[in-house]
Amino acid sequence: MSLKSRNAVVTGSTSGIGLACARALARAGANVTINGFGPAADIEAARASIEKEFGVRCVHSGADMSKPAEIAAMIAEADKAFGTVDILVNNAGIQFVSPVEDFPIEKWDQIIAINMSAAFHGIRAVTPGMKARRWGRIINTASAHSLVASPFKSAYVTAKHGVAGLTKTVALELATFGVTVNCISPGYVWTPLVEKQIPDTMKARNMTEEQVKRDVLLAAQPTKQFVTVDQVADLAVFLCSDSAAQITGANLSMDGGWTAA
Ligand code: NAD
Repeated sequence: MSLKSRNAVVTGSTSGIGLACARALARAGANVTINGFGPAADIEAARASIEKEFGVRCVHSGADMSKPAEIAAMIAEADKAFGTVDILVNNAGIQFVSPVEDFPIEKWDQIIAINMSAAFHGIRAVTPGMKARRWGRIINTASAHSLVASPFKSAYVTAKHGVAGLTKTVALELATFGVTVNCISPGYVWTPLVEKQIPDTMKARNMTEEQVKRDVLLAAQPTKQFVTVDQVADLAVFLCSDSAAQITGANLSMDGGWTAA
């Protein structure tokens, strides 16, 4: 499947799922705008390796997804650099865990902004061009938490349920314009974010690494295996194909059976 001549923007793509999506879209031939934070040298290495390995163009935007004006500017810059934005992957996300009565208000606002409202601002900015060209792919990284809840994750679960609702609404609005809008809802994915939690949890619960993975992290995931970032990225690329033209408004679970329970 070729995405040659397509131009993609992937938010939160200096790490984890987003980086894998950006690389997979580039492997399929798309030029990519990557976005996110991190050490400048690491970001430049990721950007340069996408160009070198896949023979596409790749630029980095440091836009902060909690700031609507920066999101609009990022889309405008991508449009200027490549001529179009054909594929938008709204992926940036953060987590914070706390009982609701102690949940810091600024953390609530930040999670709602980055994990939910950023998708709205990105979609709002790319929609006129996609409608005019009658082709587009919008993919939102939601979560199993767009379908079910866990305690102490009020902001995250609210934001992800919101993303699922936004996905369905915009899918209906764009259905006759050749633009599909879907979300991918992973369970636990093996990313640096998850990996970093293991040593602390081993200490806190006096568990081995295997016990932490199986009995804590994968407790809700029936396959007892992590989703890989490449599995999520491959689904994102498939959603960009012509074979997926009739998949729209869907919330596609990739959670080892978690939400079937
Ligand atoms: P990650 O921490 O590895 O990557 C997050 C990315 O978002 C990074 O590139 C980071 O720089 C960027 N980012 C954070 N705040 C930002 C901001 N304000 N502006 C711009 N970029 C920002 O995390 P991940 O595990 O790859 O998660 C990516 C997405 O997948 C998130 O939306 C997350 O909720 C979702 N998700 C993750 C899992 C999992 O188990 N890892 C499961 C389900 C859903």
